[in-house]
Amino acid sequence: MDCDRCGEPAVMHAAYSGAHLCETHFRRSVEKRVRRRIREDGLVPEAATPEKPVTWLIGLSGGKDSVALAQILAETFAEDPRIELFALSIHEGIEGYRDESLAAAEDLTSDLEIHHETVSYAEEFDVRMDEVVEDDPESMAACAYCGVFRRDLLSAYAEEDDADLLLTGHNLDDEAETAMMNFLEGDVEQMAKHFDASLGPLPERTLTDRHVPRAKPLRDVPEKEVALYARLRDLPAHITECPHASESFRGKIQSLLYELEESHPGTRHSIMAGYERLARQASRSVDRDRSYTSCDTCGAPTTGGRCRKCQLLDALDA
Ligand code: SF4
Repeated sequence: MDCDRCGEPAVMHAAYSGAHLCETHFRRSVEKRVRRRIREDGLVPEAATPEKPVTWLIGLSGGKDSVALAQILAETFAEDPRIELFALSIHEGIEGYRDESLAAAEDLTSDLEIHHETVSYAEEFDVRMDEVVEDDPESMAACAYCGVFRRDLLSAYAEEDDADLLLTGHNLDDEAETAMMNFLEGDVEQMAKHFDASLGPLPERTLTDRHVPRAKPLRDVPEKEVALYARLRDLPAHITECPHASESFRGKIQSLLYELEESHPGTRHSIMAGYERLARQASRSVDRDRSYTSCDTCGAPTTGGRCRKCQLLDALDA
């Protein structure tokens, strides 16, 4: 098949849109979707100037998504002194999984000349995920611990480094999975939180004033397209999947969505279109008086007396 736009050989076919694109037009299409998302979500504040730039922290795992995101952001804002980028990687302590991806993150940030730091659960919390899954005091999937620890570290470093925005490499598949999980769990409160934490345009968010706001500029790009983009650009991305990825509820939803997308192309896009409208409505209707306090133990923002991370660390006796 040839590219719809220029007649060169196509490198991809998107069943959800019918498009066939060559390498050049495919790359442009991915970059265009990321830049449009940045615009639509109002991520660059009008008040940002070369004299008073804003600082964006990229959560960089070294996998294809965060590597592609860092590359596109670095190129988009290379000539824009209003935006300063830096990156943070996290080592969870999963044997044979994270070391190579951190090497990839190091290579990329050195190429892009982005300041990069790496922190670990071992140094910060005195736990390693390999031990957490052995111990498992709460009888939960590995990701239920790991996700809490990761969110806490990203937020704490964003806060400490005075970042204005925390950006992560979640793609369309990730976001459609989160939406499906919230639908299936009937969790309207979680939909509102999702909208206010990362999904909604910045000017519309209301409940996250104690946290550095988050954004996901890759969230309109399907996972396979991010993988193809990283491969075509020869980006130093590590592609091994975490051994715990398929154990979680998310892993099951991922398989379900994969099958649905194969038989009904466009499913992920339509889930997200409906979900965004619902999440916006949920955000406007949930209890506005929910107030953040500081965790009794670590001082992180929480809506209870003790944050979830400290509760889990207690259970783990860390
Ligand atoms: Fe952590 Fe789960 Fe991600 Fe593995 S898949 S790194 S356990 S959140």
